[in-house]
Amino acid sequence: MADLQAILDSIYTDILPRVGEGKVADYIPELAKIDPRQFGMTIVTVDGKVYRVGDADIAFSIQSISKVFMLTLALGKVGESLWKRVGREPSGSAFNSIVQLEHESGIPRNPFINAGAIAVTDVVMAGHAPREAIGELLRFVRYLADDESITIDDKVARSETQTGYRNVALANFMRAYRNLDHPVEHVLGVYFHQCALSMNCEQLARAGLFLAARGSNPMTGHSVVSPKRARRINALMLTCGHYDGSGDFAYHVGLPGKSGVGGGIFAVAPGIASIAVWSPGLNKVGNSQLGAVALEMLAARTGWSVFGD
Ligand code: GLN
Repeated sequence: MADLQAILDSIYTDILPRVGEGKVADYIPELAKIDPRQFGMTIVTVDGKVYRVGDADIAFSIQSISKVFMLTLALGKVGESLWKRVGREPSGSAFNSIVQLEHESGIPRNPFINAGAIAVTDVVMAGHAPREAIGELLRFVRYLADDESITIDDKVARSETQTGYRNVALANFMRAYRNLDHPVEHVLGVYFHQCALSMNCEQLARAGLFLAARGSNPMTGHSVVSPKRARRINALMLTCGHYDGSGDFAYHVGLPGKSGVGGGIFAVAPGIASIAVWSPGLNKVGNSQLGAVALEMLAARTGWSVFGD
């Protein structure tokens, strides 16, 4: 394999002069305070080697990347019947679009836009009090990463609870279409806490390693999902993981990936490695600007694109 540390170092050298580009997610007041001049990246290979550069050990708000973990839990609970509640098509619209939800009668396009993720969270809540569902997710992510120190940042969750008006609208809409079984406040309470999961690049890359390794984490030996399910989650990340920037990400990077407005991107090179990159400045569609640039460099320098080198 190529010298991955040398590749990461070369990416860091090329990115450093640009650090600070993009705009932090100021619609969530607590995230508006984050200094955009940060960049970190970690690669964990399926044979258990870890490579890191920059601010890879600083915890950040994983936001929408949590949707991958919630989706994994929901599929484990209800299997393919999940797809009665949410679609599997790219949206081509903003992650918080209300128009599209009305147009599609309360069935969100995919599990990674906000409406779809809120429906997925509702599925995971079945039989649980909201607090228990949050606990289940936190335990799951700690188990995946094999790291008990992962926490949820209550300040971020509170900040979004106070200002997440669009999510309140989306959830009410779905409730009106009977696509939410639980009260809107409860579902959003869980959703805002899942988004507020606080992890660093290394914890995130470790937590998602099962998606690069046919559903099992080779570092812990934990079997998480079947190879088929891992493949399908990767397919959804490739087609829907970057909202209305998904086509562009596939074009430039060519890896399944999921972004969050905290500035993180989690990506998978199937059979090879999982990657987490973080830089808080976002582009126009709400994806980490330099995170995407760094992943494009990584794909070009390793030949890891799923579409060939
Ligand atoms: N918590 C954010 C929201 O619901 C997540 C959005 C994102 O990361 N794209 O708006």
